[in-house]
Amino acid sequence: MKNVQIAFAGVLAMTFAASGEISIRSDYPGGNVKVCGIDEAAGVVTLAPDLRDTKTKWFHFDFTLTGAAGRTLRFRFPQDRFDYLSSLGPAISKDGGKTWRWLNADGTRHEPNNAFDYTFGPDENETRFAVSIPYSQKNWDAYSAKWRGVPGVKFDVLCKSQSGRRDTELLRLPCRRDGARWLFAFTARHHACETTANPVMEGIVDEILSGSPDGEWIRDNADCVFVPFMDKDGVEDGDQGKNRHPHDHNRDYLSGIYNSVRAVKELLVRESNGRQIVFVDLHSPHVRSHARSPEQDCAFTFESSSPVHNIRIGKFRRNWAETSKGGALVYDGTHDIPANKGHAVTLKKARKAGLMNSRHWVESLPNCYLATCCEFGYSLCGGVFSQDGGRELGRNMLKALVRTARSAEKP
Ligand SMILES: [Zn+2]
Repeated sequence: MKNVQIAFAGVLAMTFAASGEISIRSDYPGGNVKVCGIDEAAGVVTLAPDLRDTKTKWFHFDFTLTGAAGRTLRFRFPQDRFDYLSSLGPAISKDGGKTWRWLNADGTRHEPNNAFDYTFGPDENETRFAVSIPYSQKNWDAYSAKWRGVPGVKFDVLCKSQSGRRDTELLRLPCRRDGARWLFAFTARHHACETTANPVMEGIVDEILSGSPDGEWIRDNADCVFVPFMDKDGVEDGDQGKNRHPHDHNRDYLSGIYNSVRAVKELLVRESNGRQIVFVDLHSPHVRSHARSPEQDCAFTFESSSPVHNIRIGKFRRNWAETSKGGALVYDGTHDIPANKGHAVTLKKARKAGLMNSRHWVESLPNCYLATCCEFGYSLCGGVFSQDGGRELGRNMLKALVRTARSAEKP
């Protein structure tokens, strides 16, 4: 066996080949895998996510395999009871990442959570496998091209990425009229591996610019800002991002060790003067549901421990359930996380230890009207997740946010 290290975009990525024909690489944006072994004769590939500075087990992988046309291979992740595959198995692309389908495209649950078999077609020489449908800067560039040059759409830079090698994008949709009363802010990828957040963000932008009644209201009454990649280096380098050492981007709102977190905090304070803030931080949850965590296969959000904020979040939740009815992906609020229970308790403990997350920090601002975090299941998300479905859910979410804000303006 041989290992080849290839320098890529300033980081080391790995190509791994056994002595035969099968080889695996992850030397592209978002790529990540640790190849533990390829047994060509038996047709068994043993893999693990490359954790890097993530200090807990996690599940992000994204690799391309060549040299197995016509064969059936067995892919094996560590046998340690952790979840390495989402509920529908891996996402698979046969065209270099342009289009994706789930191993269980019909929506049936894949078992086990740490292994899958795959039969390559007779001419299928190169196939990409990932834990989720990937989304990196090139996807954002391809999406946002349609809005470049459109009046009222401004492509800006929030700050340099943590390494200084890249820009952290900031999209602005400034209010069309003087005297905006609202600042709507959306962030994604505080956790680098959480790719379902970005199609949702695309849908939110699309709805605002669609000419719909909700879109027109927001353009006349609010400044809108979007940060698609809070952990830009992590997204491009294919890091897990979650549970980074010493803490990840969404535990950084008190200490501020990350450029992008400091820049978002400054922006929200500076640009919300005289305005009320609506803030939504977009995430993906754990990789599959269990009896005690059915929310992982849904779109879900969190209650607030502040009674005043909880009333507003309750309105938003009801509005979103209404606007998403009949969609390919449906939010119904059934599995939202109650305040002071489960994951909320973990967050409270973290906060006491000085590790505040984005929504808690924004909620503490005196002019915050609504701050929430929304999570979007990797492969099941109130329906079989697709990028189109994510966009539709984002459009429906924006309508719900506008209706919630407008209800605050009614006498
Ligand atoms: Zn997250």
